Amino acid sequence: MQGQWEAVVLQWIDSHCHLGFKGMAEEEDEIIARARAAGVSPLINVESASSLESNHAAVALTERHPDVYTVVGSHPHDAVAMTAETFSAIKDLGSHPKVVAFGEAGLDYHYDRSPRDVQQGVFRDWIRAAKEEDLPLVIHTREAEADTLAILEEEGVGEGDAVIHCFTGSLEFAHACLELGCYISIPGIVTFKNAGDVREVAKAVPDHRLLVETDSPFLTPVPFRGKRNEPSYVTHTAAFVAGLRGVSLEDLAGQTVENTKRFFRKMEQG
Ligand SMILES: [Zn+2]
Ligand SMILES: [Zn+2]
Repeated sequence: MQGQWEAVVLQWIDSHCHLGFKGMAEEEDEIIARARAAGVSPLINVESASSLESNHAAVALTERHPDVYTVVGSHPHDAVAMTAETFSAIKDLGSHPKVVAFGEAGLDYHYDRSPRDVQQGVFRDWIRAAKEEDLPLVIHTREAEADTLAILEEEGVGEGDAVIHCFTGSLEFAHACLELGCYISIPGIVTFKNAGDVREVAKAVPDHRLLVETDSPFLTPVPFRGKRNEPSYVTHTAAFVAGLRGVSLEDLAGQTVENTKRFFRKMEQG
C-alpha cells in the first residue's frame, strides 16, 4: 500500500566540486550515484591540479557521466609553474562541448604559494582566455579583495562573466562584485558557527545571482563536519541558505538551478 506521504526529491546543482581529487576519484561512481539519489545533478567538476594531464582527465570524466560538466584551468597556488605551452594547451580544451568555464583562476594571498605578481599575471591571462573562448570564469580569491577587484575592473569583466566561488569575503566585496555583474557561490562554510559574514552575504545576494556549491572534498557543511565533503551534501548547505533567506526549498532549488545553467551557458547547448 502506498503511504500518503511521498518524498519529493528536488533538483540541485553542485556548482563547484573536485571529483578528480585524491579520495574522491577512487569513489567516482559511488559519489556521483549518491549525488543523483539526493537530486544533485548535474555536477560542475573543477580541475585544480593545474597540469595538462589532470585537465585532460577532467574532460575524460565528463565523457564517462552524462550529467558531469567540467571547468578546466589552473589554480592560483600553481601560477608559478604555469608555462605558456601548458596554458595554451589547457585553453584549447575550452572547445570541448562539456567544458563549461575556465578556472579556478584568481588570487590566494592566504597561502601565497606563488608570488603575488605571478598570480596576478596568470589571473589576467585566464580572464582574457575566457573572453576569447566565450566562456565564463570561476574565480578563487582569498585575502585579496582589493587586487581581485582592481584586476576584474581593469580587464573589463562584466555581466555574467564570472562567479566568485566559495565566497568568504566581506559584504562590501560582495556588493562590488555584484555591481560588476558577477555571480556569488555560497559554500558549506555558511553553516559554520563563526561564519556570520558569509551568512550576511548569503542573505544579501539577489535571487538571480546566487549559486550553491560544496567545494568538495573540502568544507563539509553541518551536520557532517569532520567527514569528507561530497556533492550530495550541497542539499544541507542549500537548506540552510533557504532558511536564512526565508524562502522555500523549492524556490531556492529552482532559482539556483536556473542561475547555474544561465551562468555555465554551454550546459544548455549540449
Ligand atoms: Zn577555490
Ligand atoms: Zn575549488
